[in-house]
Amino acid sequence: MNSPVYLDHAATTPVDPRVAAAMAGCLTADGVFGNPASSAHAHGEAAFERVEAARAAVAAAVGAEPDEVVFTSGATEADNLAIFGATAHSQPRGRHVITARTEHKAVLDPCRELERRGWQVTYLTPDGHGRVEPDRLAAALRADTVLVSLMHVNNEIGTVQDVAAFAAVCERHRGVRLHVDAAQSIGKTEFDFHACGADLVSLSAHKSYGPKGVGALLVSRRSGVRIEPRQFGGGQERGLRSGTVATHQVVGMAAAFTLVVAERPAEGVRLAALRERLWLGLEAHGGAVRNGAPEGTVPAILNVSFDGVEGESLLAAVAPRISVSTGSACTSASGDPSYVLRALGRDDRLAEASLRFGLGRSTSLDDVEAAIEAVGRALARLRRIGGACATAR
Ligand SMILES: *Cc1c(COP(=O)(O)O)cnc(C)c1O
Repeated sequence: MNSPVYLDHAATTPVDPRVAAAMAGCLTADGVFGNPASSAHAHGEAAFERVEAARAAVAAAVGAEPDEVVFTSGATEADNLAIFGATAHSQPRGRHVITARTEHKAVLDPCRELERRGWQVTYLTPDGHGRVEPDRLAAALRADTVLVSLMHVNNEIGTVQDVAAFAAVCERHRGVRLHVDAAQSIGKTEFDFHACGADLVSLSAHKSYGPKGVGALLVSRRSGVRIEPRQFGGGQERGLRSGTVATHQVVGMAAAFTLVVAERPAEGVRLAALRERLWLGLEAHGGAVRNGAPEGTVPAILNVSFDGVEGESLLAAVAPRISVSTGSACTSASGDPSYVLRALGRDDRLAEASLRFGLGRSTSLDDVEAAIEAVGRALARLRRIGGACATAR
């Protein structure tokens, strides 16, 4: 059997070969393998220089200063560091946090943990397209609010939030810090740390053709935000994230970010055209509901619900031919309908019968046509048998 058409770039992307080559140069004896913290040795010095070059490249790709980049093991760690670090620092002033129901688990679960520790958390409900209204944020702010955590690009539906508007709201309330999860942003839409006005921003490499297991937290110097470290040891990363920096990982992240940011203008146009073709093809099958406003979502993601079929049967029917997913990698394992789509107001049945298509560098028009056809065949069959899940399983 042919391997399935790969149409899922929202969960992870393959590492770009140029990125892999840069990483390989930091591992073996003929490369830069030293400990970047041991700058007394020549090997360490060379590694230190690679890490600092990577820091500068990541900063340049996202509109930050190099000393605002704190490398982490990914966006999950960056989200945890931002949320627990900022709240630990500011808790004498209040114990209230605001986030949204559509955030990634890497934000929602730390917020749940804060609640267990006695904090209060407000979970904002977005509009039907997944957008959080800045006015709703303004209305939710309280005298004891110390942190707002709202994502830039949603990983399931691709909705892009107006982060600058959130920042403007937070700025009017003294002492409220804004954290933004931008794990899905780099290379998928324009992102500029200083222009967006956030205090803290989480990044991940593997959604942007970089390696898994590396990311960063951007910590604004200009805003003077302070966070407490979560991890103690050698004092690396300005004491905010102790532990030997993984030279090959940060070099990979920097190479990947540099590439995707350079390619984004042309790639964005190409993917937007492919996505519209995909949507029109799927829509023609009937009963398709698009999740997220077309003009307000990144071109790399298309999320569609299908009326009149059962979710698990639909995924089972298309999965051998195209690599798609329902919801995020985490929620599809639990089998529950996507909480993101539920927050948009979709009922359980429609939320379950949803497919998230990811379009990326490897996606061609042929792939899109194959996906349209595969979904069409699955829908026709499932609708014929009345959507009974037992047969498809
Ligand atoms: C993937 C993702 C994360 C987690 O990032 P890791 O680097 O895998 O830890 C967090 N937030 C969003 C929006 C994501 O898409």
